[in-house]
Amino acid sequence: QAKVAGKNCHRFYSRAMDQAVERRVSMEQDLRGAWERGELSLAYQPVYRLEDRSLVGAEALLRWHHPEHGMIAPSVFIDVAEQSGLIETIGPQVLRAACADAVAWRRDFPASNLFVSVNVSPRQLRNGDLAALVDHTLAQTGLPADGLHIELTETAVIGDELRVSSLLARLRDAGVKVWLDDFGTGFSGLSHLRRVPVDGVKIDRSFVADVLRDPDDLALTTAIIAMAHSLGITVVAEGVEKEGQYDVLRERGCDLAQGYWLGYPMNVHDFRGLLG
Ligand code: C2E
Ligand code: MG
Ligand code: MG
Ligand code: MG
Repeated sequence: QAKVAGKNCHRFYSRAMDQAVERRVSMEQDLRGAWERGELSLAYQPVYRLEDRSLVGAEALLRWHHPEHGMIAPSVFIDVAEQSGLIETIGPQVLRAACADAVAWRRDFPASNLFVSVNVSPRQLRNGDLAALVDHTLAQTGLPADGLHIELTETAVIGDELRVSSLLARLRDAGVKVWLDDFGTGFSGLSHLRRVPVDGVKIDRSFVADVLRDPDDLALTTAIIAMAHSLGITVVAEGVEKEGQYDVLRERGCDLAQGYWLGYPMNVHDFRGLLG
């Protein structure tokens, strides 16, 4: 296409661009009210302690079953929800549903003492009062604070460290755990941990993917674990797809793990099956 001369080329690209914009706009319209229509649901991916492979919690992952287009991945629609502001209504709905599910797990399987981990987007952190929302939601659902983990990406905390760290301090004072998601993919990484107080880091799956093949990735992963532990921070590995990765991470002292080898994200019914 690049070889097509000026005019055509321009028309091609602008038409493609129009289509992309159109798709976004119609996706945004469809997403509006999707929760109320029952098109959005939560999948739960089990989180295990590496040492003894015990089930300790679950990450809540949003799923959109579109009536015409079928399953749409969060990597596609979360972005639209974020940019349109819809995340500010969907986010609290996700939080409440995840907390309510965790209350039911703890009620029906008291020994499990599971936590639920909820992803919070940059916009939810910037606008509104996340600490107040969390307080309110815990009170409403009856979930003890230690049953909730909040996952933030590095990009969400960059730029506004002062405000974010006081917000995180409020959450942590209340007893909610805060995890930094996709850790290692941002530029800041380690230096941020000095200014932004978190309880855990989730090593991005791009590192985990190569721990068996690439000595650099293994060295980085090992360094992250050592550094985090010296700061008293829990380490979670994402994207464990092979037994060998699990073994290496356990050897290196990583605390928790999730990934396809351990368990796929599943509906709440199937997740309860793991407990019973
Ligand atoms: P994330 O928080 O880093 O979630 C982990 C993603 O990795 C999930 O993708 C999960 O299905 C996938 N995953 C888990 N284990 C493996 C594995 O072994 N191999 C591979 N290749 N992938 C694995 P998913 O569900 O498509 O979610 C993508 C992202 O969308 C999430 O990344 C998160 O940033 C965002 N997201 C999902 N649900 C929510 C939500 O309720 N609110 C917000 N704000 N963001 C959400
Ligand atoms: Mg996450
Ligand atoms: Mg992640
Ligand atoms: Mg590599």
